[in-house]
Amino acid sequence: MTTLFISDLHLDPSRPAVSRAFFQFLKSEVINADALYILGDFFEVWIGDDDDSELVQSVISSLRDLTASGIPIFLMHGNRDFLIGTQFLEQSGCQLLEDPTVIDLYGQTILLMHGDTLCTDDLAYIEFRAECRSESWQSDLLSRPLAERRRLATQMRADSKEANSNKASAIMDVSQHEVRRVMQSNQVTRMIHGHTHRPAVHEFNLLKTDDSDSFGTRIVLGDWHATGWVLCYQPDSSYALEEFVID
Ligand code: MN
Repeated sequence: MTTLFISDLHLDPSRPAVSRAFFQFLKSEVINADALYILGDFFEVWIGDDDDSELVQSVISSLRDLTASGIPIFLMHGNRDFLIGTQFLEQSGCQLLEDPTVIDLYGQTILLMHGDTLCTDDLAYIEFRAECRSESWQSDLLSRPLAERRRLATQMRADSKEANSNKASAIMDVSQHEVRRVMQSNQVTRMIHGHTHRPAVHEFNLLKTDDSDSFGTRIVLGDWHATGWVLCYQPDSSYALEEFVID
């Protein structure tokens, strides 16, 4: 058996091939898995659980088929879909994970995060994040009519794209200092996250010394565009970060 991790699918009606690949992935891979973890930015944008779009309804029913059959599906908010709420969770049968969460996976302790909070060099983003995660910002947005929220979401995506185009690439990657700090404070040597769209396995000394006992591993999931990425984790703690073509 295996436990699967994915993130950053950015599901959106404008990219139907990605949604199709996800539905296929559920039917062919997740159905045989111990569990599925979705570590944020599952949707390109989430404007509220009352979204009646066709895509959202198909995603809910596909997830429901698996959770109802006893396969646990865990979901963590990303910076795009942090408004996913209790109605979606109840309908889909997914279980929400806090960011960060430490899990016991086949006897090994692993830290799970979306990854945006590791990008501490991006001060403008950290400030924006604090604002839009506040209770008042969220309740204000959710109180607006669905059509207005759709317009606002489009505007916010355009603003974010413009802001990011002026940022140096390194600023939008994780801060290694923050990675060490978070791993140490959670007492883990292995972490999994997404967000940066830089799929890789990084191995490094946790303590910035040559002490081999402080060896840390950071597994970064990839985004789904022309290809998709899945981390397959085995009970013996071995794992493979696999890329596949989306067509
Ligand atoms: Mn993200």
